Amino acid sequence: MDALSKKVPIKTVARVRPCFNGTNQSSLIIDSIKSTIIVNSKNKEYHLDNVFDENATPETLYETIAQPIVDEVLGGKNGTIFAYGQTGSGKTYTMNGNKVNGKTRGIIVRSIDSIFEYLNARLKNDPQFKFSLKCSYIEVYKKRAFDLLQTDGATVNILSSGEQIIIEGAAEFVVTSIEECLRHLQNGWKNRKTAKTSMNRESSRSHAIFMLTLVTEEINGTFVNLRTSCLNFVDLAGSERQSQTNNTGERLKEAGCINQDLLFLSTVIRIKSTAKEGAFIQYRNCSLTHLLRDSLGGNSITAVIVTIHQNLEFVNDTDSTLNFAKNCK
Ligand code: ADP
Ligand code: MG
Repeated sequence: MDALSKKVPIKTVARVRPCFNGTNQSSLIIDSIKSTIIVNSKNKEYHLDNVFDENATPETLYETIAQPIVDEVLGGKNGTIFAYGQTGSGKTYTMNGNKVNGKTRGIIVRSIDSIFEYLNARLKNDPQFKFSLKCSYIEVYKKRAFDLLQTDGATVNILSSGEQIIIEGAAEFVVTSIEECLRHLQNGWKNRKTAKTSMNRESSRSHAIFMLTLVTEEINGTFVNLRTSCLNFVDLAGSERQSQTNNTGERLKEAGCINQDLLFLSTVIRIKSTAKEGAFIQYRNCSLTHLLRDSLGGNSITAVIVTIHQNLEFVNDTDSTLNFAKNCK
């Protein structure tokens, strides 16, 4: 159990994807100015910190949600950005985009660009400044964790050692340029796809966590100021109501794990955003929260992006996704 030292505000935002299947009849009333979404057939209204309709560009989403977190991470805090939603609603599109270049770049690539832009400028202007940036990429499937940066999909163990979370067996690559970092990221995307066919780890049923760890060193007279911060991007497993799909055997087990993880995650996030001094959270209850313990704790900034469909056929899942966002507060 870990004590939570202070209440931390969580930003919850919704991104609505374009209508699916060529229809253009939305079941939602989306008001980006008031940051509200009305689910017509349920007669419910949700208020979020931001609402991005289908016309919002990936750039706007990045600048509003991710850039402020990147800035905090560059200042020494930890940050985590979650994408939550049913399969097909745009989680991976939001995190990864369709490509590593062009207008549809996702928030991971944009964050990497921005981090290097800052670090390279600092290096140029300040001879006393040094940094080391590392990346790792973990997939959590059922109760187990795998390394997406190793082609053989090695199993890794999440351990707590005193104050620190250690991912035993995970590759951690030092990256010195945008290109190098993107190579690892794309390698992870490829391995996630391969695991789907060769190891039957369907990507919509696993969580993928891309982690950047930054260590900066500034020399000030005789003082050396070392700072470590982490930035995590979490593409969560599909949140569709698992009990409604006719699952049996392994699929049923998967469904149970996903439901448990997502439920526990919302509990942890809610406790974090409302906690009184000294609240206790059993992060180790689930691999996902255990892995993210340090980034969900006190000195960290969190944003939850819920991605939703607007078609009527998905309205039950849309409503439950918006409820998740509501429950994070
Ligand atoms: P998820 O990861 O939630 O299962 P994806 O991100 O894979 O869903 O999205 C499913 C499909 O819809 C992809 O082809 C993706 O390119 C497209 N898509 C999702 N969100 C958007 C969006 N906001 N704008 C345009 N296309 C989108
Ligand atoms: Mg996906």
